[in-house]
Amino acid sequence: MDKHNKSGSKSQEGHPQHPFINTAHLKSIKEKRQQFPSSEDLISKILSGDMTSLSRAITLIESTNSKHCEQANTLIKGCLPYANNSIRIGITGVPGVGKSTFIESFGTYLTNLNKKVAVLAIDPSSSLTKGSILGDKTRMEDLVKKKNAFVRPSASGGSLGGVARKTREAIILCEAAGFNIILVETVGVGQSEIAVHSMVDFFLLMKLAGAGDELQGIKRGIIEMADSIVINKADGDNLINAKLAKVEFENALHLYPKKMSQWQPKVTLCSALKDEGISNIWEDIETYHNLTKNNAHFSKQRHEQNKFWLMQTIKNQLHQSFFNDVQVQKELKSQLKLLEQNKTSPFAAAEYILNL
Ligand code: GDP
Repeated sequence: MDKHNKSGSKSQEGHPQHPFINTAHLKSIKEKRQQFPSSEDLISKILSGDMTSLSRAITLIESTNSKHCEQANTLIKGCLPYANNSIRIGITGVPGVGKSTFIESFGTYLTNLNKKVAVLAIDPSSSLTKGSILGDKTRMEDLVKKKNAFVRPSASGGSLGGVARKTREAIILCEAAGFNIILVETVGVGQSEIAVHSMVDFFLLMKLAGAGDELQGIKRGIIEMADSIVINKADGDNLINAKLAKVEFENALHLYPKKMSQWQPKVTLCSALKDEGISNIWEDIETYHNLTKNNAHFSKQRHEQNKFWLMQTIKNQLHQSFFNDVQVQKELKSQLKLLEQNKTSPFAAAEYILNL
């Protein structure tokens, strides 16, 4: 006898019945779950601000299943006319600098101003490991509870380019759902900062006092991208060092040529832990927003970013469809073998495959 079915009775379908569980009810729940809402349904729910539908739609975007990709494209197309109405803010810094503590504090501050805040992430490590940002559910505990906040962990799987594209598409859906502040977090290692920079209006770099060699030039490229440098953990014994670092960064920033936006990047002290300096950072972003809206840099930058993403998408799709082609895969294998045996050169092999 089934161990859950002491009476040995059977359901109508012939399955053993659990004495406490209504199998018909379970079946209806399962069926409901399987019935994915139609694209039109999802779009109208997203536009009404329904977060469950927004989550579902982002899951579709992240899926590699071709049917899901098709539906995801329909959703993006449907949401696009309602997107764009936001300030997109990129936040970067090395692990441990205090990004999630800052986003918790900053996000809460903004929701208290009646802003709708969505937090997305690009974490290149999430493909290999569980990821170092946003994977941990205990992060941003207070913010996730806010009615006006939406926190989504980084998409995992695929290349940085793929993950970045998904985040960019998620931005569109979040905006269509009425989120007017989009925070895109990334870890300050490698190329992910460039990816985030290419999808945000304002780029915020978090730093610690006395932690780096960046002024010597290693990370100058990142500093050059920054619209704001936030020196975090400016509290307790660290405050004096933080103030010194502020002066150093300010001096360094003056050496860079003026930005196209005409904005002079700011250096701000902050204690994310103690919620200090948060309002100053928001004031800077608002000033930047007003300046760049008035001088048209804001829309110009978004147009440039759109062009960049168009080219990126074409490149990605070409890359994908080329390498997914069965004949290419077969010929590539044999050309690699020939190459190993010194019977061809890399260029001859490439030309042969490209001409297939
Ligand atoms: P992330 O890896 O950049 O997201 O950094 P976390 O937000 O997880 O913070 C790393 C550690 O620094 C945690 O233990 C935080 O409590 C601490 N921390 C974050 N912000 C501050 C701050 O403003 N002051 C101090 N003293 N500690 C902070």
